Amino acid sequence: MDKILWERRERKSLNTNLIIFGPPGAGKGTYTSRLATRLKIASIATGDIFREEIKRSTVLGRKVAEFVNKGELVPDEITIEILKKRLNEPNSQSGFILDGYPRTIEQAKALDKIAKIDAVIQIIVPEWIIIERLSNRRICKNCGEIYNLRFIKPKIEGVCDKCGGQLYQREDDKPEVIKERLKVYEKQTQPLIDYYKQKIPIIEVETPQIETPPETIVEKMINELKKTNVIKTIEPK
Ligand SMILES: [Zn+2]
Repeated sequence: MDKILWERRERKSLNTNLIIFGPPGAGKGTYTSRLATRLKIASIATGDIFREEIKRSTVLGRKVAEFVNKGELVPDEITIEILKKRLNEPNSQSGFILDGYPRTIEQAKALDKIAKIDAVIQIIVPEWIIIERLSNRRICKNCGEIYNLRFIKPKIEGVCDKCGGQLYQREDDKPEVIKERLKVYEKQTQPLIDYYKQKIPIIEVETPQIETPPETIVEKMINELKKTNVIKTIEPK
C-alpha cells in the first residue's frame, strides 16, 4: 500500500473527534483549549473560523461577512462548508474538539455527513455559579480587559488597571438576562444531547464549586474519556 496513504490511515485510527457543550459562563473556552492541548488535537470554534475566513477574505469569508455585517445568522450551508474546509486542514487530522457547533439537529445531521464524532462532552454548572461568575464580570470600555469583582478585582474600583478606562457591566451579564440566556441554552442543547445519546457516549462533567481549577475539570474529562474508551492512553503532561 502507498506509504503516505497508509500513514494517513494509521493516524486516522487514533483520531478523537469531540463536541463540547456548556452553558454561557461555564468556562467552556478555557476547558476546550486546555483539553485540546492535552490530547494534542485541534480546538475549533465556529466563531473563530468565521473570523479567520473573513480576515483572509476567502470566497466563503466574503459570504459570511455579508451576513455578519447585516447582523444575520450565517446560513447552515455556508457554515458547514467552512467547517468541512477546516476539518480537512492538516491540523484537524489527529482529531478535534468542536465548540459552538452544532446548534440544531439539522446541523448535527449535516456534521454526521462530514465527520465521525466519538463523544460529546457536556459541562454541567449549577445556575448560581454561572450567575455569580457572570454578574461579577466587568469590562473596560477602553481596552476590553475583563475583570471579575470576586477573582480579578481592579486595584481601584471601577477603573481599569491597564489603561485607566472605565469598567462597565455588559447588559448580557445582568442576572435576569443570564437566567434567560441559560433557558435558551437548555432549550437549544437538550435535543442535541438526546440526538447524540443514542449513538455515542455523553461525558458529563460537573463543576460543583465556583473555584474549581480548570486543570481539575480537564483531568476529569480525560478520565471519563478513558473510562468510556473514547481515548486509550495519552502522554503524561
Ligand atoms: Zn482598560
